[in-house]
Amino acid sequence: MITDIRAAGVNNVRNVSHYIFGENSLDNLPSLLADRRKGLGDSIIFLVDEFFKDKNKILDRLHITNKDQLIIVDTGKEPTTTYINEIYSGLVNIDDPSRLVGVVGIGGGITLDTAKAVSNLLGNGGMAEDYQGWDLLTSPGLYKIGIPTISGTGSEATRTCVMTNAKNGLKLGMNSEYTIYDQLVLDPELTKTVPRSQYFYTGMDAYIHCTESLSGSYRNTIGDALSSQSLNLCRQVFLGNDMLSDRNRANLMVASYLGGCAIASSYVGVVHPFSAGLSVVLGLHHGVANCIALAALGEFYGTAKEELLTMAQAQDIDIPHGVCANLSEDQYDQLYKSTVVHEKPLTNALGPEYRNLLTRDKVYKIFSTM
Ligand code: ZN
Repeated sequence: MITDIRAAGVNNVRNVSHYIFGENSLDNLPSLLADRRKGLGDSIIFLVDEFFKDKNKILDRLHITNKDQLIIVDTGKEPTTTYINEIYSGLVNIDDPSRLVGVVGIGGGITLDTAKAVSNLLGNGGMAEDYQGWDLLTSPGLYKIGIPTISGTGSEATRTCVMTNAKNGLKLGMNSEYTIYDQLVLDPELTKTVPRSQYFYTGMDAYIHCTESLSGSYRNTIGDALSSQSLNLCRQVFLGNDMLSDRNRANLMVASYLGGCAIASSYVGVVHPFSAGLSVVLGLHHGVANCIALAALGEFYGTAKEELLTMAQAQDIDIPHGVCANLSEDQYDQLYKSTVVHEKPLTNALGPEYRNLLTRDKVYKIFSTM
């Protein structure tokens, strides 16, 4: 077992520097922003999840002024480099871009990642694709505040923002300490309106990240401690009577944050690569794809698979089945390729010779049971 975080490729871990946590902490946002607005014409960029575009009760609480920029983020699919570039060029073409003094991302993982990427471009210039990879940003992004409205992905805590370059198919984030939020507002009230199944699937992302890191070989004591506590909280939420109670929504928000911190110095395992295959080839959303993948990967994660099924039953949630029935040979081939390409997590879980174990036949067989 490796106990050195540097073995995970991170030399010096940075976390979010400030957070406010608690019910109705959203109401602290205007005063946080007042600290940024020095001049009369100063402008904040609000990137708001499309889910909230007509939710005036929430929008009113953001205190958006007529100097500010409001951008509704399309969450129909994961961000592309083209989408980020479009938002960025719209912003730098306003009258006086030097008046832009902060970015606020409010929404799910897609919105939080979009806000991180836009902030990075505002601090560094250029195009989104220039920074896909490790430590390619040279300057901090524009000051940014993250406000998650669904729990599980951990995007609020991580040093990356996932995006796809449609031209070359590369799905890779801007992995840099500059990507980390300067401030979080963790307000469990905001997750009250999330539909039940989406709440479950997305919340299980934290459970699955942590299960995978704790079963891997790139381990370290800090990552393990964060993962273990995140798992404990997930169990309280999903094995309890009402996963959406006030207390459980607060617990899941913390589980998501801790899970995101854990991932900063560890790796996922076999579930995420299979889940990525389902997302790339069948367009399934990350959370539900994770649950489908884990349910088919009992060979690698026997206890976690059983626990997933118990949790789903306790909360009366269906894990979809039969998603790979009637696929063509070509689609199976794409599934295989988009799974085994994830070298780091698969090496973390199965060792450097993982391709000997995950043969084409074996991978086909696993997908066929999903
Ligand atoms: Zn995930």
